[in-house]
Amino acid sequence: MTRFNAWNVFKNGFTGQKNWDRQWRDPEPKKEYDIIVVGGGLHGLATAYYLAKNHNKKNIAVLEKGWIGGGNAGRNTTIVRSNYMMPGNHEFYEHSLKLWENLSHDLNYNVMFSQRAHVSLFHSPSARDDAARRYNIMRLHGTDGELWNLDTLKNNIPHLNYDNARFPILGAAVQKRAGNARHDSAVWGYARAADSLGVDILQNCKVTGVQRSQSNIESLETSRGTIKAKKVGFAVAGHTSVLWQMAGLGNLPIESHKLQAFVTESVKPLLDHVVVYGVGGAHFYISQSDKGSMVFGGDLDWYKSYAQRGNLPIVQDSAEAAMAIMPCLGRIRLLRHWAGVMDMSMDGSFFICKTPLSNLYLNAGWNYGGFKASPASGWYFADLIANEQPHKHVQNHNLERFEKGINIDERGAGPDPKLHG
Ligand SMILES: Cc1cc2nc3c(=O)[nH]c(=O)nc-3n(C[C@H](O)[C@H](O)[C@H](O)COP(=O)(O)OP(=O)(O)OC[C@H]3O[C@@H](n4cnc5c(N)ncnc54)[C@H](O)[C@@H]3O)c2cc1C
Repeated sequence: MTRFNAWNVFKNGFTGQKNWDRQWRDPEPKKEYDIIVVGGGLHGLATAYYLAKNHNKKNIAVLEKGWIGGGNAGRNTTIVRSNYMMPGNHEFYEHSLKLWENLSHDLNYNVMFSQRAHVSLFHSPSARDDAARRYNIMRLHGTDGELWNLDTLKNNIPHLNYDNARFPILGAAVQKRAGNARHDSAVWGYARAADSLGVDILQNCKVTGVQRSQSNIESLETSRGTIKAKKVGFAVAGHTSVLWQMAGLGNLPIESHKLQAFVTESVKPLLDHVVVYGVGGAHFYISQSDKGSMVFGGDLDWYKSYAQRGNLPIVQDSAEAAMAIMPCLGRIRLLRHWAGVMDMSMDGSFFICKTPLSNLYLNAGWNYGGFKASPASGWYFADLIANEQPHKHVQNHNLERFEKGINIDERGAGPDPKLHG
């Protein structure tokens, strides 16, 4: 595979861009792999990459039922941040942010990570206290975080609704190292880097059945034939319960919900930050893409579904939330919207853990927030599969935490998956 560097870009510029290699191969499935990761989203691809890179594992395949990045990985609003405070969560997301900071170099692929700051508005003195607590905890752990008063906020983001808002803006909690990355680039970068280390990426390869003994998986039935595996990792986001039931393991503490994203026509530079607010039943986040589109989203669609399209009430709800905070968007045209299927867990936290089957490993429960998590998720999931032990940062992110009463619920919203935004 041709590496991207200044010389190769220059050389190919003179030869009509015809001499680049394929970015990843399109291999036929082998009869057997040492490790199969099911799911060609970011978590599956990152896991395969770190298995090969960090643990020198060979003979790995990623099985994807459609095309890589066709699920949530290519459908999200691309926000990357590490403003978490619970033990374990904090270390995990900070590790992820650090990986993002060097990801383009590591993968030799520009993931367009832009540290434009994540600005979380507050609208009441109690919300300011809450933000101060969270951001002070972050600072105690060495993560950047600061509070902006109204004047600083106005200087940085002049277009918000400061004069006539239903819920007046008092200031914001800000993480400056946070921002956005381009989701497709992250998918392609991980795929290309994993492929170059020998990982087989098998697209259009849907897992349709699981052959198992009492204690472990023997092979996977797929749309491209039966494939044996010594170890299997599930990283299928909103379809985790489907695969789990295929393996005959019953129910998981996960519900599959839809989340929509919205993109407008392009406008001149208007918003140089990621802006988020949640107050009075509204929940909204917005940024501007490099092409000039406003990219935004809000709440879940409020009912369980596997459909990758959204409903109209949420379109209205999100448009209202946009208008409430940035009235200047009133005449902008919405170009596209779509939905992804979210794996919402009962405490809003993820699973990277072993399972009742000795050679099956689980990566799931990413809720709204799995894009930013994908580098660390791949890193720690690969570590678990390779070493059979959870790293201390993910040791509580298992299926037993509910019966043991371990609290890693970042929002403290309780056991209703719809509330873990
Ligand atoms: C609208 C929206 C906005 C979001 N915004 C953000 C955000 O701003 N920041 C953030 O951090 N997170 C965000 N997220 C969440 C984030 O996108 C997800 O948590 C994350 O992408 C999930 O992990 P993944 O990339 O591996 O999932 P996916 O890309 O969904 O990967 C799972 C893959 O498994 C495949 N699969 C399923 N069943 C099978 C099968 N039987 N056989 C083979 N393959 C199978 C699917 O086709 C899919 O490609 C958002 C999500 C959505 C939908």
